[in-house]
Amino acid sequence: MKRIILAADIGGTTCKLGCFDETLNQIAKWSIHTDTSDSTGYQLLKNIYEAFVEFIDQSQYKFSDVVGIGIGVPGPVNFETGEVNGAVNLYWTETVNVREIFQQFVDCPVYVDNDANVAALGEKHKGAGNGSDDVVAITLGTGLGGGIISNGEIVHGHNGSGAEIGHFRVDHDQRFKCNCGKSGCIETVASATGVVNLVNFYYPKLTFKSSILQLIKDNKVTAKAVFDAAKAGDQFCIFITERVANYIAYLCSIISVTSNPKYIVLGGGMSTAGLILIENIKTEYHNLTFSPAQQDTKIVQAQLGNDAGITGAAGLIYTYIIEKEGVK
Ligand SMILES: [Zn+2]
Repeated sequence: MKRIILAADIGGTTCKLGCFDETLNQIAKWSIHTDTSDSTGYQLLKNIYEAFVEFIDQSQYKFSDVVGIGIGVPGPVNFETGEVNGAVNLYWTETVNVREIFQQFVDCPVYVDNDANVAALGEKHKGAGNGSDDVVAITLGTGLGGGIISNGEIVHGHNGSGAEIGHFRVDHDQRFKCNCGKSGCIETVASATGVVNLVNFYYPKLTFKSSILQLIKDNKVTAKAVFDAAKAGDQFCIFITERVANYIAYLCSIISVTSNPKYIVLGGGMSTAGLILIENIKTEYHNLTFSPAQQDTKIVQAQLGNDAGITGAAGLIYTYIIEKEGVK
């Protein structure tokens, strides 16, 4: 009997969809437009279901071959109930019970989790996490997100806010306001947005020349421009890069004494833009971290890129159904 897993990684503009075999190898992937016209989520979830039906109809599989469906959603998720409590990017203004809605269409189990959590699960099983049971994934993009896998399971916490590491306060001067309503969160100083915040904060104090001065004046500075200039030896950009790296290293050291991961996987646009950033993070991490908690812990670059979400969404079914069958 051949069994398959269906997966959806819902994003603000597209939904990535995938089909995997029962050992989590990708069989197919495709994407559909994200319909955000319905704030109850029903229409979007129906579109995803119909895309799955279309795929199954054209494939050698039947719906009865599906072990389960995993769904990653950009918002806070109650893993137990499948409820999503307001996904801003999808314009879901109220609580949407993704599992309950999807279960109107299908009989197989449906698992729902936050997109950063499923990305971490994807990297654990098929990416830089190398199958380890203790993996932390940090996504350095426009914002800063993360997922923590501990003892093989995703850390959700009592109401689903576990691993919301972007809102860990590292900037005690609280110079920049965060999207969450508070100030000083690591997202405000160590994401792509955070790099720009720091540049704009420090450059009026500059006493020497910087190659990105014109970009700053034109309001066009980006994290990538800063890292590129740092690589080329620009002292101001090296200073900014070190600041950003120190914040991330501090976060990694706190995570290390909390859950002692084997791999800390850095993903997102910023991790590919700057090897110089990762090297700085490693150096500071080793300086800061309690020695037993960093022994054999590796800081590595993510490997799955855009596929981390669908792989991890399918990984929910693999982790919570298929792997558990084996230990019966
Ligand atoms: Zn925040």
